[in-house]
Amino acid sequence: MNMNQNTNEMYPGKVALYHGPDKALELLPMNWPAPQESQALVRITHCAICRSDVHTMCGRRHVQTPSVLGHEIIGHLIAVGASFSNTDFSGQTLKLGDRVTWAIYAHCGECAFCRDGLPQKCVQLFKYGHEAVSDTGEGSSGGMASYIMLKSGTPILKLPDTIRDHSATPINCAVATAAAMIRESDCKLDAHSVLLVMGGGYAGLSAVALAKKQGCGRVLVFETNMELHKRCLEFGADEVFVPGDQAAIECLNKWTHQRGVDLVLELAGSTDAAQLGLDQLRTGGCLILAGTVFPSPPLRIDPDQIVRRCLTIKGSHNYRPEDLITATRFMCDTQDKLPWGRLVGGVFSLEDCNEAIQFAKDHPGQRAILQMC
Ligand SMILES: [Zn+2]
Ligand SMILES: [Zn+2]
Repeated sequence: MNMNQNTNEMYPGKVALYHGPDKALELLPMNWPAPQESQALVRITHCAICRSDVHTMCGRRHVQTPSVLGHEIIGHLIAVGASFSNTDFSGQTLKLGDRVTWAIYAHCGECAFCRDGLPQKCVQLFKYGHEAVSDTGEGSSGGMASYIMLKSGTPILKLPDTIRDHSATPINCAVATAAAMIRESDCKLDAHSVLLVMGGGYAGLSAVALAKKQGCGRVLVFETNMELHKRCLEFGADEVFVPGDQAAIECLNKWTHQRGVDLVLELAGSTDAAQLGLDQLRTGGCLILAGTVFPSPPLRIDPDQIVRRCLTIKGSHNYRPEDLITATRFMCDTQDKLPWGRLVGGVFSLEDCNEAIQFAKDHPGQRAILQMC
């Protein structure tokens, strides 16, 4: 890494402060300092508005305020501290100017959670796009800004040159989360496997396509918005239904000879969807929950059924760094084979961040992307 940098240099830009649900973002000028020690300063080029940001901005999910939202981010390494590692976590050499993404958190690597394969639950966890900042934006760690300072312990990944910006931006949340869910299921997906995906949003479609790529025989998607059904098929679903359609149950019964489905991935973010999925599991089947990231009504489940049917019910929140590698490779392989571009509905400047948020609220099936330059 070229360390020939002026440590007193300031990096002027803008930051969009979030003050609470249904309040307009406040755009402020801000100066970023030069990175110290193992920090890295990234000039943000793109930030996608994730559904969890929308949940926050609609008041369903609480974050401290003021804060700077946005965690699906890519950008270029602009400056690094003196002890910054010159390799990313996959072992690639890093240099200034490289286009990078990173796990949405920094972790210590040493605590019991980190050692146990749950770095996303580290005792010193720092989550990008979720932390409180000062009234003037200092401490900004979100994507709705010109720059972001990456802390020590952030798994940084250099992006392949071939991957397009808009394909790369949502990888570090939606696609990596889908990869983590499939890994955590421990299901060996093969031609006989039947997968049920609840929700046909960005992460749901990623899960469908990832499962198909791994050889999963049949995938059925439940999606409430009928306008999104066609693209579920385009991403590899064999069938798609609105929840409550009896034809879906008949289809699953036919595919599985009444056995029930092997794996359910819940990404719709509703107890009803989770319940519907749970009720379709076969003996020995697995339900992975990831969509409900805000308080929700309880599931109905008789413990006797969990025991007798040998069910696995597992929560999946965020992901391990290795899932980010899986997701990036998968996006490289599929960016020209699947219609990812159609999932990006609007591109906005940082100055137009409030319009971007309105777009994201009005178009639940599409990503709004902030493009900084
Ligand atoms: Zn997200
Ligand atoms: Zn830790």
